[in-house]
Amino acid sequence: MTVPDIIIAIDGYSSTGKSSFAKLMAKELGFLYLDSGALYRGVTLFAQEEKFISPSNEINPALEAALQGLDLWFASDNRTFIGERCIEKEIRTMEVSSQVSPIAAVPYVRRFVDAKLHELAGGGRVIMDGRDIGTTVFPNAEIKIFMTAAPEVRAQRRYDELVMKGENPVLEEVQENLRQRDYIDSHRETSPLSRASDAFILDNSNMTISEEVAWVKGLIKGKFNLYDD
Ligand code: C5P
Repeated sequence: MTVPDIIIAIDGYSSTGKSSFAKLMAKELGFLYLDSGALYRGVTLFAQEEKFISPSNEINPALEAALQGLDLWFASDNRTFIGERCIEKEIRTMEVSSQVSPIAAVPYVRRFVDAKLHELAGGGRVIMDGRDIGTTVFPNAEIKIFMTAAPEVRAQRRYDELVMKGENPVLEEVQENLRQRDYIDSHRETSPLSRASDAFILDNSNMTISEEVAWVKGLIKGKFNLYDD
């Protein structure tokens, strides 16, 4: 099927498999994939390394000016970079996960990331995942999906992912981190995580990724009256 130059917004709770799903979908449709969480994680790593954030999550307001010089970008294989340095591994650690939500709650950080997403999205043919893509960043996205899954399924997925990456996680800590991020993400003042009224809910607790792709392709087909090539 030939899909028009639309924007697909995927939002939802942490570790619902948004990124893996969005990446695969982008590949199948020939779309650009943008991981907004990676940008928040990149800002967090920068804030940690440059000591703009204390261990107790106090954020030095000088971070706002420093962001103007932050060269955060994606390579064509979706890896995240600061300048010449690939930070893909560092931004996925528990250390970054534990401070990303307080950083992402800061209005000027959100403005920085939103501007970057708009710049990178260009004219469309893009699939993006995050927490506020369908509500705030691209409220006019043609297709909006809100992903969810049972908390124990999400914690186990995140745990397995960290193990695969060579980390040594503790399941209870992973569960607690997800709980905290969900809470902060849903209760912050600036663009909290919430389902856009026109978003389709996708509960993937018992679905494979290919089933999810087939489901969303069905939605796209229906909306644009498309046929298989
Ligand atoms: O998607 P991921 O789990 O990598 O995102 C990391 C964190 O970035 C989230 O827990 C959330 O605090 C923040 N985030 C956000 N808005 C987005 C994407 C991510 O606040 N659009």
